[in-house]
Amino acid sequence: MTLKFKSTRGNKNLITASQAIVKGISEDGGLYVPCEIPKIDFELKKILEMDYKELAYEVLKLIIPDFTEEELKYCINNAYDEKFDTELIAPLKSASGEYFLELFHGKTLAFKDIALSILPYLLKTSAKKNGVNEEIVILTATSGDTGKAALEGFANVDGTKIIVFFPDEGVSPVQKKQMVTQTGKNTCVVGIKGNFDDAQTAVKQIFTDKELAAELKANGYIFSSANSINIGRLAPQIVYYFYAYAQMVKNYSIKFGDKLNFTVPTGNFGDILAGYYAKEMGLPIDKLICASNDNKVLYDFFKTGTYNIDREFLVTISPSMDILISSNLERLLYHISKSSKITNSLMESLNKSKKYDFKVSSDYVVGEYASQSETFDVIKEVYEKSGYVMDTHTAVAYASYKKYKQKSNDNTKNVIISTASPYKFAKDVCVAIDLKYKQEDPFNAIKILSDIWKEKIPAPIKDIDKREVIHKTVLKKDEIKNFVRDFLKK
Ligand SMILES: *Cc1c(COP(=O)(O)O)cnc(C)c1O
Repeated sequence: MTLKFKSTRGNKNLITASQAIVKGISEDGGLYVPCEIPKIDFELKKILEMDYKELAYEVLKLIIPDFTEEELKYCINNAYDEKFDTELIAPLKSASGEYFLELFHGKTLAFKDIALSILPYLLKTSAKKNGVNEEIVILTATSGDTGKAALEGFANVDGTKIIVFFPDEGVSPVQKKQMVTQTGKNTCVVGIKGNFDDAQTAVKQIFTDKELAAELKANGYIFSSANSINIGRLAPQIVYYFYAYAQMVKNYSIKFGDKLNFTVPTGNFGDILAGYYAKEMGLPIDKLICASNDNKVLYDFFKTGTYNIDREFLVTISPSMDILISSNLERLLYHISKSSKITNSLMESLNKSKKYDFKVSSDYVVGEYASQSETFDVIKEVYEKSGYVMDTHTAVAYASYKKYKQKSNDNTKNVIISTASPYKFAKDVCVAIDLKYKQEDPFNAIKILSDIWKEKIPAPIKDIDKREVIHKTVLKKDEIKNFVRDFLKK
């Protein structure tokens, strides 16, 4: 029997992977999870011989099994091509005695490209398989990187429209410029007065608004999501954990069969959840270290067992991790508790009283965090020691890992998930290396960084400051719903 998916919140309907991809989120507000996490059905050692695409096929066919071989290979081949600036797709680098899995070699210079280059193909294939004829409207809330990666993925894809909401004051100047200059007649980009959580909550409300859905369906539209609430975003991220493991064996950093730790700079908990799935599927992962910035809700949660969002929301130098409500944590809670009743009551408690209690064992995830100054410090330290430049998010993970190691004395080898190119956050990276750049213009910082680092400026952001701004709308939270309605009337 093929693997089915169900909601974390108790809706009893079992659906296929392709149906879950089309729907994005369940009507009851829950997220789709596999009824059972599949185990790998091939000999693990084979991953040492596979390239990225072959590995993607072997892993994806287990977790989204209702796609045919032909369909899946079509999606994979169209995703992982020359859009990436290296055939390796996700190269492993070593610097300063640590290992970095570089996931930023796609078109928007952040790890979101890995999932969002394949999602449009998975989604269109899923729609076709299920006889969905409506035009698919992708609604996406972004803390900076998802938005651009989704726009690049969906721009000019027939039968789709994409609307991206970003916190107007909560993304980096380069991230904002990347989004508001997006071309493609089916794209729409809107600034929100508020933070990422406001944008994400508004989008989730639109998804679960039955009246609006009925109205739009009558006009030939259905909604779907490009956020990591969509299982089609999560599944492709499992692949690179296997890929990293294979590279660690091939460069003799570990022996085949040894356990490996991963440290993951975390926001919405999607990336690290993919690591949890990889482990459950049979990859020898020991610890998953969840790294937070000063918005350390997750660190506090793993330490104390209380998830509490009743606190100040801080805007940091790692904006893609500036999140208080990490959506995908709900999936972990469900898998651990094995109960939609418990998951439901935790989510209700979060809604009503802004917190809940649930203890997660460190066998699953260990929390750590890095303050802003610790983040600045490690960028400088690693650069001076080895010449390697980390972006601000990767630096949060590096600093967190150092703290973890010091406290735990754990000598298991570790891979740091490197989620963005330093060019994307050039200004803060330059300031970390030398305070004299404090007054520098953020776009000029890109050029300065290339002098410091001696690595070519990636094409996608070269001369980005000179591109025309196309999207200028900024809305208050309560205007979002009507805006979506009006946009789809056109
Ligand atoms: C999105 C993002 C993160 C956080 O990933 P989640 O899956 O949301 O936890 C970390 N770093 C960068 C650069 C990102 O774009």
